[in-house]
Amino acid sequence: MTLRIAIVGAGPAGIYAADLLLKDAEIPDVSIDLFERLPAPYGLVRYGVAPDHPRIKGIVNSLREILDAGHIRFFGNVNFGTDLTLEDLKKHYHAVIFATGAMRDAVLDIPGIDLPGSFGAADFVSWYDGHPDVPRGWPLDAKEVAVIGNGNVALDVARMLVKRPEDLYPTEVPDNVFRALESSPVTDVHVFGRRGPRHVKFTPLELRELGELADVDIILDERDFSQRDDSQESVPRSKQALVIERIFYLWRQREVGNASRRLHFHFFAQPTEVLGSGSVQALRYKRIGLDSDGQFVPTGEMVDQQVQAVYRAVGYQGSPIKGIPFDEIKGVIPNDKGMVIDKTGQAVPGVFVTGWIKRGPIGLIGHTKSDAMETITSLRDTMDSLWSPTKPDAGAVVDLMAERAVEFTGLAGWHRLDEAEIRRGGLRNKERLKVVGRAEMLELMVPP
Ligand SMILES: Cc1cc2nc3c(=O)[nH]c(=O)nc-3n(C[C@H](O)[C@H](O)[C@H](O)COP(=O)(O)OP(=O)(O)OC[C@H]3O[C@@H](n4cnc5c(N)ncnc54)[C@H](O)[C@@H]3O)c2cc1C
Repeated sequence: MTLRIAIVGAGPAGIYAADLLLKDAEIPDVSIDLFERLPAPYGLVRYGVAPDHPRIKGIVNSLREILDAGHIRFFGNVNFGTDLTLEDLKKHYHAVIFATGAMRDAVLDIPGIDLPGSFGAADFVSWYDGHPDVPRGWPLDAKEVAVIGNGNVALDVARMLVKRPEDLYPTEVPDNVFRALESSPVTDVHVFGRRGPRHVKFTPLELRELGELADVDIILDERDFSQRDDSQESVPRSKQALVIERIFYLWRQREVGNASRRLHFHFFAQPTEVLGSGSVQALRYKRIGLDSDGQFVPTGEMVDQQVQAVYRAVGYQGSPIKGIPFDEIKGVIPNDKGMVIDKTGQAVPGVFVTGWIKRGPIGLIGHTKSDAMETITSLRDTMDSLWSPTKPDAGAVVDLMAERAVEFTGLAGWHRLDEAEIRRGGLRNKERLKVVGRAEMLELMVPP
């Protein structure tokens, strides 16, 4: 019997899960359909990873090899929940694996966060990466900008704002984004973190990169480095932490003052309010110190940093999926080793989960491989409780989508889009020129 598996979400988690299923010696005969709501595959590798990170963007090539091996059917522009439902999948497949990732900004509940000029990093990232479902315009009219957060997404946002546009040009940055960045008046970007420089979640490579930006001075506050910080003294420092410490040390020795743009780091700075009437005018934060027990406590000092825009990069959050249990607090689908569980902790037969929607929006692309491994093991171990489809024929689901007039894309369409983007980019000395509008993508991807 052929095991028919649907995977929803064609980001790295979904594609790695498909790959592992195909390689699983204990599941000799498997057929996989991969459904994706965007016309093109690759999830956040295409629409999250920054355009000036070509090495990471290059992961698309290895994901593409998996899709091109000829054993997976890709159906893009198919939204689970509207175009297809759980009931549909039960008729056509033995099981489904949800790999729907996370696209929303986590909430930062401080007064003024909804003022015009205050943005979520996820929206900004979607804009600069040319996500088809976000508006093409972005108000880049602030001279001084605050970025809240001490993780790599905060660094991406800060770097995209402060980097010279001409240095972004050769990348796959979309045309409209390049033009907007070219006319941005930004001079100062301020990055805020509640804890000290020892507690940042940055990775060394991404942090070091900021110090290499042309015409950008890095401004550090010596107070942040002289503050006694023995909160983690008993914890052995990782190699990564030592490298980060060294990067800050070297930056502190640098001469500053000549660059036309500045990137300021504010540590021990907890934002408490976005100030402004009608639009953002400042970010208020409280200074944090350490008490004699090494606990973080407010020092009582409040500071207003003048800025005209605020970007919060405080994490991503998954979205609920119609008909599937969801943990609103964690923003994930509750599961036991990838097997979806209901409120009572019972496994929901035939329903599995992997990637960011399984364990939350943390970790690198590579981590989604180990996620997939665990999920596929769970699927294999529960083979006798999977669904019994009444229409397992491979053509039936295609007929169903045709009946519903779903304008789905396929791998051939992706190849056409990919070639067109690379060709158009080549003509302009760019890696690729991304096609951003959904209608234009579909025109290229779906033959008339
Ligand atoms: C801004 C940013 C920068 C990053 N940079 C790096 C980096 O430099 N290096 C690195 O290793 N990692 C990076 N990451 C992390 C990396 O992107 C994630 O680890 C990885 O993408 C998670 O994979 P995923 O497949 O779980 O989710 P995603 O990549 O989000 O893929 C989920 C897919 O599911 C689709 N989907 C959602 N809902 C539905 C639905 N209802 N129907 C059909 N399809 C649906 C989505 O459209 C999407 O394509 C970055 C993340 C972000 C946010």
